[in-house]
Amino acid sequence: MPYKDVDRRREYAREWIRTNPAKAREAMRRWRERHPSEHAASNRAYYERHKQELAPYFAQYRREHRDVRQGIHARRRARKLGAIGSYTTAEWIELVQRWNWTCAYCGERDALEPDHRIPLARGGSNSIENILPACRHCNQRKGLLTEEEFRARLAAERGPLEL
Ligand SMILES: [Zn+2]
Repeated sequence: MPYKDVDRRREYAREWIRTNPAKAREAMRRWRERHPSEHAASNRAYYERHKQELAPYFAQYRREHRDVRQGIHARRRARKLGAIGSYTTAEWIELVQRWNWTCAYCGERDALEPDHRIPLARGGSNSIENILPACRHCNQRKGLLTEEEFRARLAAERGPLEL
C-alpha cells in the first residue's frame, strides 16, 4: 500500500477496483470461498444494519412468492376441472396488490388464495374477473357459496350494530 493515510488508502483501493473489475471480482470470490463464516457474518451484519429499510422488501418478497405459488396451484386445479377462462400470474399479483395483500372478505393479512366469486362448481369461470384474494379460512368457509351469499352470511354474523 502506497499510503499511510486511511482515507487515501481507501481511495487507492477503490481506484484499483474501478480499473481492475475482473481481478477485483475474482479476489472477492476467492476471499468468500476461503472465509465462508466471515462472509456469512458480514451478510448478517449488513442485514442487521439495514433491517428497518429492508423489512418491507423482504415482506413483499415473501408475500409475492407465496401468493404466486398459491395462484399457480389454484390455476392447475381449475384446469383439471375444465373451467372456462384463465388468468396469468401477473394478473393474480396485480389483483392481490390492488387488495393491498388483504383478504377480500375479512381484511386479514394472511396467505391469500384465489377465490372464485361464483364457484367453478356452480358454473363460474376461471378468468380474473371471477377471482378475489381470500385467506384460507374465508376460502374454506365460503365453499360453494357465491360472493354475494358469503358476504350476506358475514354481514348476518356481524349483526346489525356493526353495519
Ligand atoms: Zn378472510
